[in-house]
Amino acid sequence: HVKSSGKNGVRRFDGALDAELERRKVLEREFQFALQRGQLSVVYQPIFHLPSGEVHKAEVLLRWTHPEFGAVSPGTFIAMAESSGQIIQVGGWVLDTACAQARRWRDLLGQPLVVTVNVSPVQFLQPSFVPQVKNALLRSGLPASALELELTEGAVMQQPSTVRAALHDLRQLGVSIAIDDFGTGYSSLSYLRDLPINSIKIDRSFIRDLATPRRAPQYAVALVEAIVGIARTLDLQVVAEGIESSGQLELVRSFGCDFAQGYHFARPMEAQALTELLHHDVTAGDAPPHIRLN
Ligand code: C2E
Ligand code: MG
Ligand code: MG
Ligand code: MG
Repeated sequence: HVKSSGKNGVRRFDGALDAELERRKVLEREFQFALQRGQLSVVYQPIFHLPSGEVHKAEVLLRWTHPEFGAVSPGTFIAMAESSGQIIQVGGWVLDTACAQARRWRDLLGQPLVVTVNVSPVQFLQPSFVPQVKNALLRSGLPASALELELTEGAVMQQPSTVRAALHDLRQLGVSIAIDDFGTGYSSLSYLRDLPINSIKIDRSFIRDLATPRRAPQYAVALVEAIVGIARTLDLQVVAEGIESSGQLELVRSFGCDFAQGYHFARPMEAQALTELLHHDVTAGDAPPHIRLN
């Protein structure tokens, strides 16, 4: 019975696929309740200003902990939240949470720590987005200068007139804009010149290619140097993300990167842990918040 064993083969294959599809369906359904059930939280990863060694910014990263499935990666649930449209509400919650926390840090430390919030293109392209940002600032009492929004190249290349208007409104408010994962999306460089953008974050994949200083391949060095050069020319701040070793740090520092972020310095952490880190440095007499780089 060749036919039926073939069928069984197909069914086995479908079985694995079905299980994965089933898992996704369950996660999608469960994500609908994640916010109201208090399963969402954010963590903060410090971003270091290289010339001074101080923590000037912290990136806000969303986490979902499901009681049964445990920690679900943003790589999985952000896409789900985008396709269901839930990212609009969830993104609003992230903004509120981040601004409120930034305001607490400001009060506690007397230092203007900037929080950087990732924004999905789906969220950004809503007419309600700029009001959402305004409200988060008003509710928290956080000055707009302490908020930076991270957008991908893909997000700013869509619907040019909508994007341009929103970016100008945000600039008017005093909010900063960073281009995240720079160098990986479809884009033209002209948008960097034409739109009100403050900084670019060099994608982790370019930093990974730097490996160690002695062995860093020439193309990787040239690419990162070129990106820093573009940023310099256009008067943009440049952040190297995904720094995992002192070798990578030394290279990006020598290229003139302004900021760096990565496991080499600190992993994303709870607000309380970052408070302790910053507070420790302040009380140690090292104000402003400071981490020694060496
Ligand atoms: P991203 O914005 O590029 O964030 C940086 C990611 O790199 C984070 O992953 C962070 O934990 C990780 N990372 C930081 N330093 C290192 C390092 O040295 N080595 C390595 N291997 N990884 C490092 P995470 O938290 O899993 O977030 C993944 C992506 O999910 C983010 O990439 C962002 O695109 C998205 N995301 C996270 N939170 C939000 C959010 O609140 N809203 C939106 N729309 N997207 C978010
Ligand atoms: Mg980011
Ligand atoms: Mg990034
Ligand atoms: Mg990324």
